[in-house]
Amino acid sequence: MSKVKSFSVDHRTLKPGLYLRDTYKASFFGPKVLTWDLRLKEPAKQEFIKGRSLHVMEHCLAYYLRKQVIADEIIYVGPMGCCTGMYILTTSKVTKYMLCDALKRSCDTILGVVKNKVDVPGMNVEQCGNPVYANVEDALNEFGHMRVMLTNLEL
Ligand SMILES: [Zn+2]
Repeated sequence: MSKVKSFSVDHRTLKPGLYLRDTYKASFFGPKVLTWDLRLKEPAKQEFIKGRSLHVMEHCLAYYLRKQVIADEIIYVGPMGCCTGMYILTTSKVTKYMLCDALKRSCDTILGVVKNKVDVPGMNVEQCGNPVYANVEDALNEFGHMRVMLTNLEL
């Protein structure tokens, strides 16, 4: 059985931050793909992000990260099942500095323009499987914490 890289990380000592978790090639000739761990909560020590908030964060980050300079390098943005952060997949052109910068700019934009559910990209019956499952106010609170964490991050 192949090993899942994130399972080899001791989550008891994991702090919030931005971590390059894995580098892989989907196929022999395919491009290298980077898996980033945007850890927003300290596992088992801080309260996890509520599902409705994480859903809003997913929509906002998936949209606004693709408005940044590295837009074409973003492959995927999605929530961690344990509700302590997000996974971001990029091409190998993206560095930690570039991703951190793009995330900070995304937070600033989101905190500036998103006020309620109609402002959340794709949060409607046409574009989302469950648009009522959303807590915008709490998600914005989480984005505020995330912005502070990213500002204090050593790169
Ligand atoms: Zn959705």
